[in-house]
Amino acid sequence: MNIKNNINAIIHTLPGHVKLVVVSKTQPNNKILEAYDTGQRIFGENKAQELKQKYEELPKDVEWHMIGHIQTNKVKYIAPFVSLIHSVDSIRLLEEINKQAVKNLRTIPCLLQVYIADEDTKFGFDEAELNDFLMSDVPATFTHIRIEGLMGMATFTEDHSKIRNEFRKLKKIFDALAALSLGQNIQMKNLSMGMSSDYTIAMEEGSTLVRVGSSIFGSRH
Ligand SMILES: *Cc1c(COP(=O)(O)O)cnc(C)c1O
Repeated sequence: MNIKNNINAIIHTLPGHVKLVVVSKTQPNNKILEAYDTGQRIFGENKAQELKQKYEELPKDVEWHMIGHIQTNKVKYIAPFVSLIHSVDSIRLLEEINKQAVKNLRTIPCLLQVYIADEDTKFGFDEAELNDFLMSDVPATFTHIRIEGLMGMATFTEDHSKIRNEFRKLKKIFDALAALSLGQNIQMKNLSMGMSSDYTIAMEEGSTLVRVGSSIFGSRH
């Protein structure tokens, strides 16, 4: 795989309002640096300790995004530096992120993961839980968190119309929330959807952050 060509080819297809998150999980630093050399600065990882180690070893102007499920006891590893957590799937996790953000004297931007797929292995809020939570006075108690949008993963299937429908459903939920005046630490500005196999569909359905790994680095072993 030619990492630079792959990134440039993807960047070329992105509309101005869509950002690429290069998913570097399992990749060694030399490959991440090849991606970095194209000017790419946003990288996504799905394991807290791997993320912390890469943060320590790689250039300090990388914006590190957490994209995978996090256990509450691992939030401490990433709280000092993480730029955006895409995968917040419970209120308990928000409580821990807020606690660690307070300790680190910073505000941590988060997206709430919404369950849109058919698979019961996926994490996230369902639509009713999400609305109840965002319209309650609980978010305001998370003084060191900014909720900046939503994230979702479509069902793993070849059926493009099914994937499209799931993304469309999430965009509808996002737009409905964006139209409300919610708490002052909630701004519905980013919608993270789409990975290597489905980011084109996701962009057509309104994604603003695409998370792409294997189309850039090749398949992971
Ligand atoms: C691994 C991963 C991706 C990237 O997947 P690819 O198919 O390699 O592009 C995107 N999002 C999440 C949450 C992931 O864990």
